[in-house]
Amino acid sequence: MKLVSIEDVKSPPRPPIEELLDEAAKLLRLGRVTETILVDEEYNLCMEDYRRFHALKILGVRCIPVSVGSKEDVDLTLEDLGFDKDLEYNSLRVCRNNSELIKSCWPTPLVRLNFLSNSLRDVWAKLEYLNPFSNSIKDRIGWYMVIDAFENNPKIGTSRLIYEASSTNTGIALACIGKSFNLKIRIYLPQTVQRCSDTYIRLLGSEVVRVPEQLTIQAIDRVRQDSIRDNALHINQFENDANFISHLRFTSKELDYQLKSINLRPRRIVCALGTSGHASAISFYFKNRYQDKVEIVGVQPAKDEIIPGMRRIETGMKWIHYVKIDEVIDVTRREAIEGLAKVASMEGLPIGLSSGAVVAGLEKLSNIDGVSILIFPDHFYKYVEVLANYQIS
Ligand code: PLP
Repeated sequence: MKLVSIEDVKSPPRPPIEELLDEAAKLLRLGRVTETILVDEEYNLCMEDYRRFHALKILGVRCIPVSVGSKEDVDLTLEDLGFDKDLEYNSLRVCRNNSELIKSCWPTPLVRLNFLSNSLRDVWAKLEYLNPFSNSIKDRIGWYMVIDAFENNPKIGTSRLIYEASSTNTGIALACIGKSFNLKIRIYLPQTVQRCSDTYIRLLGSEVVRVPEQLTIQAIDRVRQDSIRDNALHINQFENDANFISHLRFTSKELDYQLKSINLRPRRIVCALGTSGHASAISFYFKNRYQDKVEIVGVQPAKDEIIPGMRRIETGMKWIHYVKIDEVIDVTRREAIEGLAKVASMEGLPIGLSSGAVVAGLEKLSNIDGVSILIFPDHFYKYVEVLANYQIS
């Protein structure tokens, strides 16, 4: 048996995520690797280990045990293989480019919400608005989808042009990250999105196209057709497995180790639903690592309500169908704003509308005793046009 860098093993490209979830779940549940991966003398992967290899890769391990000819028994924890190396950040935060800048902001803080906590309940929030570009959770996927495209999709290298439908945050993230990679970006924004988004995205040197409808399957398909016509890469956060993988490798893993550092086991994690990327990855990670003891709550806009960045499940989501979401809560725009106003005024945290929806979702649960984690996707600055129209009590 030899331990080698996972980058040194030659393999065909990653298969769709649904083909890797069984292996990844086994690895997370067991927390260890018990057999070598078969390779030949030149480190070409043997096809029987194709799925296990890629499952290890999407979990972010750095090295793997390999053998030539026949399998050998091993007993190595995921940490022995560098699973936690994803969390080794640059603490002095000196960055040579904007790709390093994003990782210097991780882990995003986990902060206790004292006004929602008491002797029976302990509520914590992960502040994704402290990401550097879009001030949102979408920086993670913008960055990872681009890195992943350079690894797996030759089109990005030839066209250097990305088209994407976004309700703002992914658009800003891609516009910023695209600079490091000399990419041109066109963002399709739904008509319902606040006007300031055009200004931000244009100032960042990217193009904006307004589309008449919300981010429906038809609207996303129009982006796909335009991208084919113009030989652009439609990076498509709604279908791109790099979205899910970024939250598996980083958001979920960060949260797990942050909670371990203070000896807390979450009873529930509450997430806003848009593409379902972060809710699905967090569910997959925590339910496999902790034997389904963590309840995952998804929050969606109530029928005919608009909460920026959020969508209802029936409008089409990919990864949510591969994982278990224990409860889905409907929240109105008014309730989201009230949740936002409560956290802003009581805790002094400038959270956005979908974060407010997460607070409202938690408060609608019948029992919130124990440890609850809220994922706060972004901040309130982008939504001043919406917030100014509401009388806050
Ligand atoms: N909240 C905001 C502000 C968003 O921009 C998004 C996604 O666009 C979400 C929540 C939902 O996150 P996800 O796409 O991971 O489901």
